Amino acid sequence: MNRDNAAPASHIMVLYTGGTIGMQASENGLAPASGFEARMAEQLASQPALVVPQWQFREMSPLIDSANMTPAYWQRLREAVVEAVEIQGCDAVLILHGTDTLAYSAAAMSFQLLGLSAPVVFTGAMLPAGVPDSDAWENVNGALQALGKGLSCGVHLYFHGELMQPTRCAKIRSFGRNPFAALNRSRSGQTAGTLPTALTYDQPRKLANVAVLPLFPGIGAPHLNGLIDSGIQGLILECFGSGTGPSDNPAFLDSLQRAHQQGICVIAITQCHEGGVELDVYEAGSRLRSVGVLSGGGMTREAAIGKLHALLGAHLPVEEVRRLVELDVCGELL
Ligand code: ASP
Repeated sequence: MNRDNAAPASHIMVLYTGGTIGMQASENGLAPASGFEARMAEQLASQPALVVPQWQFREMSPLIDSANMTPAYWQRLREAVVEAVEIQGCDAVLILHGTDTLAYSAAAMSFQLLGLSAPVVFTGAMLPAGVPDSDAWENVNGALQALGKGLSCGVHLYFHGELMQPTRCAKIRSFGRNPFAALNRSRSGQTAGTLPTALTYDQPRKLANVAVLPLFPGIGAPHLNGLIDSGIQGLILECFGSGTGPSDNPAFLDSLQRAHQQGICVIAITQCHEGGVELDVYEAGSRLRSVGVLSGGGMTREAAIGKLHALLGAHLPVEEVRRLVELDVCGELL
């Protein structure tokens, strides 16, 4: 196994989860399809001048449109990555994934694979391999070449010639070859420093139950209560601006207080495209803090979900989860 930082990869595991990249036409539209390994091998063989590292291929089961991605699938993906590196001796992993939830999965894996001594790259395509103007081979070959040159350990998102940090980006376009971008979110956190062992990639995990609620004019306690009573352990509140919510509504605040008392970890992030949460700027924000809401700073929705799943799934005490939410673990706040 390759333990050097940014050393060129020489043996890559390609994990294929489905997505447009390998989809084929069905009666009901594009659907995930098997057989991508042979197509990838044929395409590479047709370009002998293209030098990429040795690779092997594993098809995940089931192959999905990434709209069907779940935290349970993330657990299987994490196990497949760890197996590839620790048991099959691969020194890098390339994950082929549908673009709709690729940024969520890449952010989630950034937190789930902490300490893994190999780079992991996510890519996909907006048009299936083989159709005119498809971006599939451009992305697959570019990602293989980037790994062949050497990438740092940790999770990366590669698309259209660009490497991005998954804990800072999102799918911002539903068309074109450039669907992902780094969001201009504030970088104002403090580093968590040495992390608890429970957070490293090889420690046992349980599935967590996390939800997201965007605030909107008219939201009230009944909306919130529906989620609080649904069995969630973590809630991401997408607040207005720098972290405000309907603080003149006592029933809404009581519901948040009740969530806190029940041990639900509530994090405020912003629904603005740029910037982040600073709960103490407005009274309407500091009242949220007074009922136990934590600041998610400049975290993206994708990063906040991935982080909460990792923290809540790691058998950590509630107070430790709450401490780490507000500290930077893998670039989500800094
Ligand atoms: N719906 C597809 C998916 O996410 C879209 C894509 O791959 O671009 O699987």
